Amino acid sequence: MQAQQVWLRVRGGRIRELVPYEGGVVIETEAGVESYPGCWALPGFVDAHGHVVNAGLEFGQPQLRLCRSPEECVELLRRWSPNRGEWLLGAGWNHEQWELPVLPTAALLDAVFPDTPVVLRRVDGHALWVNTEALRRAGITDHTPDPPGGIIVRDASGIPTGVLIDAAAELLLQHVPPPTPEEIRAAILRTAQQLLQHGITEVHDMDVDPLWIPVFRELAESGQLPIRVQAYVRAQHREWQTAGLLPTTGELFCLRGVKLYADGALGSFGAALLEPYADAPDGHTGLLLLTPQELEAAVAEAVEAGWDVAIHAIGDAANRCVAHIYRAIRQRGIAQPEQRLRVEHAQIVHPDDIPVFADAGVVGSVQPLHCVHDAPMARRRLGVGRSSIPYPWRSLLQEGIPLAAGSDFPIEPPDVMAGLAAFCFRIPPGESEPWIPEECLTLSEALAAYTNWAHAAASVDDRRGLLLPGYDADVVILDRNPSECTADELTRIRVVATYVAGQRRWTLAEEPLLGLV
Ligand SMILES: [Zn+2]
Repeated sequence: MQAQQVWLRVRGGRIRELVPYEGGVVIETEAGVESYPGCWALPGFVDAHGHVVNAGLEFGQPQLRLCRSPEECVELLRRWSPNRGEWLLGAGWNHEQWELPVLPTAALLDAVFPDTPVVLRRVDGHALWVNTEALRRAGITDHTPDPPGGIIVRDASGIPTGVLIDAAAELLLQHVPPPTPEEIRAAILRTAQQLLQHGITEVHDMDVDPLWIPVFRELAESGQLPIRVQAYVRAQHREWQTAGLLPTTGELFCLRGVKLYADGALGSFGAALLEPYADAPDGHTGLLLLTPQELEAAVAEAVEAGWDVAIHAIGDAANRCVAHIYRAIRQRGIAQPEQRLRVEHAQIVHPDDIPVFADAGVVGSVQPLHCVHDAPMARRRLGVGRSSIPYPWRSLLQEGIPLAAGSDFPIEPPDVMAGLAAFCFRIPPGESEPWIPEECLTLSEALAAYTNWAHAAASVDDRRGLLLPGYDADVVILDRNPSECTADELTRIRVVATYVAGQRRWTLAEEPLLGLV
């Protein structure tokens, strides 16, 4: 995959003709001719793993990701009043970045918010920090048992301290009022605008709540949805079945797959590892959120209903479990060959399990920015002497496993240029050497992972992901050719314009830049 200087003739939202054009890029549509002298064109980027509604909702909430202590978080929150009914919601805290990297407690919040329930999502979305009023409203007490796949963090006498990990978070979240359709609508449009400014024309939206779907549909049908959305519907508690949903097709919005979770995240010690965490004292290995039997049953039901399946697996134990389930599903013959089985994240993978993924024809949905930003934490969690490979991109590709690239926004910004640099150089911020350089991708592979390989992960690569006659005119225009850039230069490339189905949906000249999520 390489950027091109071309004259593109577009009709009916598709590329009719393209001619090499040394002066830059020209796009000619029914509406007129727009030219970009000196610029370069690529197929529009895909973000193959993001959270559209949550990213948009979180934008209107206190952002704690820059805070360096729990006290600083509380200071920032002091200025806020309830933002969802009587509740105050916030996001982005990361105790790994605090001067004292220990989990926070309800007591700190109680001092400022004795009566307002406060719920703060950890940066990775896999833990909540809440106050006593929130615990009270959710009926969580010292007698509440840990749910399967979840941990209520407690003190020595068994009293909940105010942190709920993975499935335990659901005990609380079911008591928070859901956003209104108007809030959902605004959240979708805000996120879409931000994706467009990064050159993203299609997003694979993970863990979609059935409640959000009518809003997506209404936006798509009224021509207001400016990007393409492939939705992967919540399935951990068979939400898709309860809501009576089945896969659909559509130009801008379709229900493509279901999303399941095998484990949690490394940051909150929830990723399921084959050997204990190197930096947890008690031989802790994390946890599988469902038993392998439950997970396989959930996959089988979804596949039989025609869905693609995307399973979150971060630790090597979770990846092993998912690899064997997918192989069993293929062996049972219940998945059509074109049904995609995806592993989301595939962060720590044992070399023995990569051929199993390959056997099952699995797609690896990976997030390059997690690798560079998590590197210091991941090295602490994993220690030395493990045979599993962290962020094994080259190893997956070598076994014939196609990669689809994403950001997992709002956990990371949906910044494709930064993602390309992370794929190709794997240099964590503040460091100068690549982390595990043998797993780097070439720029051409990295671009493919953001374009045609990612479209293949949703089975639309026969009409998207390349600049070819007959293909959808989803195009991103850059001010430089990425092939001629160093790591630093790559991250400074600007997206000049973004076209979806031949319509210019974003341009640097007209729009103010939105802040990073
Ligand atoms: Zn995610």
